[in-house]
Amino acid sequence: MDCWADSHLHSRHSFDSTASMEDQCRAALAQGLSELCFTEHFSLDSQVPTYGYMDWAGYRAEFEACRRAFSPQLALFWGVEVCEPHHLAGDYEALFGRLPLDAVIGSVHNVAHQKLRRLVQERGPDRASALYFQEVLAMVETGRMEIVAHLDLIKRYIGAPLTSEQLEANRPVLERILCRMVEKGLALEINTSTLQKLGEAMPSPWLLRLYWELGGRKITFGSDAHQPQRVGEGLEWAFSLAREVGFSGFYTCRERELCYHAF
Ligand SMILES: [Zn+2]
Ligand SMILES: [Zn+2]
Repeated sequence: MDCWADSHLHSRHSFDSTASMEDQCRAALAQGLSELCFTEHFSLDSQVPTYGYMDWAGYRAEFEACRRAFSPQLALFWGVEVCEPHHLAGDYEALFGRLPLDAVIGSVHNVAHQKLRRLVQERGPDRASALYFQEVLAMVETGRMEIVAHLDLIKRYIGAPLTSEQLEANRPVLERILCRMVEKGLALEINTSTLQKLGEAMPSPWLLRLYWELGGRKITFGSDAHQPQRVGEGLEWAFSLAREVGFSGFYTCRERELCYHAF
């Protein structure tokens, strides 16, 4: 395998991490990784928590310093994880067109400006899941991104994997999401950050298989680490799951193009 990559992680350039990029890189090397893509939180929506936190010059400078320091053992790329990129889509593209980003990851962290934790508390797991997946569908329909992050993130706030009844109840919208992703060539991320607590990654194996059955072949891997001790966590597990489902390789993102790597 030519590449052992973690394509979703954060540093202190995200509002919810205090890790230096250097410490994240050291942790990656200690895990035997060959490639990292930093994907710091970003939003242009003043009503979401990450708004106003990004210092582009600071992020770029620390990234370039790490790129020089860790080359050639570790290949480094930089991107953003955008909250609901389908809202203000034109503004994001105008901005990102001026930045030499490697990857834009699309995430639904809020539904109608309500955080997912609150959504689950107020609406209950079933209604919250339905509203969440509707928002993901809107994102893949109209947002511009290369990678769709943590597809079934709502389960983190429910505190348990989605049951087969919950998955079946949402099957029509899930199939539409995955079919649109296939048509648009978007990659599905296997995000391992729920592996320890919930016993499965995001998406669940059921959803990953559904993506495969619908023709989806583009996957990426990400630990979503906000701390050095979690960089690369669960990636080996995710690699074997992907192989078992039938994927022959995976993708990373460079200059906003997905590139294939065979297993
Ligand atoms: Zn996220
Ligand atoms: Zn993240």
